[in-house]
Amino acid sequence: MSQSNIQSEFQNTLNAAMELDKNDTLKHYRKRFLIPQHEGKDVVYFTGNSLGLQPRTTLSYLQQELNDWAEFGVEGHFLAKNPWLSYHELLTDKMAKIVGALPKETVMMNQLTVNLHLLLVSFYRPTKTRFKILCEAKAFPSDQYALQSQIKFHGHSTEEALIEVAPREGEYHIREEDIFAAIEKNKDSLALIMIGGVNYFTGQVFDMKAITQAGHKAGAVVGFDLAHGAGNIKLQLHDWNVDFAAWCSYKYLNSGPGSVAGAFVHEKHLSNLDLPLFAGWWGHDKKTRFLMDSTFVPMQTAERWQMSNAPIFSMAACRASLDIFDEVGMDALIEKSQKLLAYLEFIVNDLSSQKKDCLQIITPKENRGCQLSIVAHGYGKKLYNALIENGVVPDWREPNVIRCAAIPLYNSFEDMYRFGEILKRLL
Ligand SMILES: *Cc1c(COP(=O)(O)O)cnc(C)c1O
Repeated sequence: MSQSNIQSEFQNTLNAAMELDKNDTLKHYRKRFLIPQHEGKDVVYFTGNSLGLQPRTTLSYLQQELNDWAEFGVEGHFLAKNPWLSYHELLTDKMAKIVGALPKETVMMNQLTVNLHLLLVSFYRPTKTRFKILCEAKAFPSDQYALQSQIKFHGHSTEEALIEVAPREGEYHIREEDIFAAIEKNKDSLALIMIGGVNYFTGQVFDMKAITQAGHKAGAVVGFDLAHGAGNIKLQLHDWNVDFAAWCSYKYLNSGPGSVAGAFVHEKHLSNLDLPLFAGWWGHDKKTRFLMDSTFVPMQTAERWQMSNAPIFSMAACRASLDIFDEVGMDALIEKSQKLLAYLEFIVNDLSSQKKDCLQIITPKENRGCQLSIVAHGYGKKLYNALIENGVVPDWREPNVIRCAAIPLYNSFEDMYRFGEILKRLL
């Protein structure tokens, strides 16, 4: 069924929303999350793209590790129910499936910006003639700082080395043809392409396969920040031939504030043992790690980029969530998220048409995950404050953008309807 067919069947009524929920095969998952309350009712939680909600099982996963620590002390590395020495391996297969990677290409470690830096150490190798980095304009600030500081670290100037592709005048999203043109124009000096695969502000999803191909053709290395991609959209990092990627697990992956991040290094780089990197003992071949020898012997998997022993508590929280993702599968999640978002879009447009077209959706219709970014023309932050006071938790970006993420695991069609009703009263 085409998008427009689905849309024409939608109705902006409570009954229609409840009917959609009734027919939703994933509806039971909502009960498996703790939803913040407002005046005794579930809030309409639209910020799963900032901090995903807590699965009810997270507590028991954490409790297990606290108990084992209490019972075994240091011996928990071997004697815990899930021995800490290899705990991170419990996350690998499930995480790899979500991002379309081979297990050996995937590792959970550190935090997102830390992982970006560690991967840039290996994959941004500027020379006198090939030193430029291409990224999207207004990338998430941390990514901008990471790229700028890497460029300076290598002795280049950001003015010379950083190419930022921006939306055209008067437009909100970046045209991919402009990315390809910038790649072509800089093909002799381009060292690296590093783009947020899903833009955090507009929700635009980039064609990562095509960008990777174009980048490689120009002789550049290609990596993606997938903070807004992992657990949201279909990713096939291995098949797309992406060189490296990093993402966090506290947004779409519901692993808790500041939880452990992910990293991907394509198989083709894993056999290159000369690849420069910042090394630590957890990247050393695990068979001989505890011989404590002074020579670094690299793991032949993405685990080579691990430096430190694993943060078990945040990994426990991450495991609780990945187990849910594994049970549902990305395909089923995406199917629901598309429908949920189409319903939200329908409601926003319906409302806007009643209110002098004051709401403009700036997320591209064809290339999106489960986020809708809405410009509220003529409204300021007061609107956001009023939404919060009325039990809706969206995200506000100056000067007037409301970001709503409709999360297929725990948002309902009724949430979309309730949001519409509350917004209608406030406009
Ligand atoms: C959320 C986000 C970050 C945050 O970085 P941390 O290192 O996890 O604090 C970085 N980049 C992007 C694109 C993000 O969306």
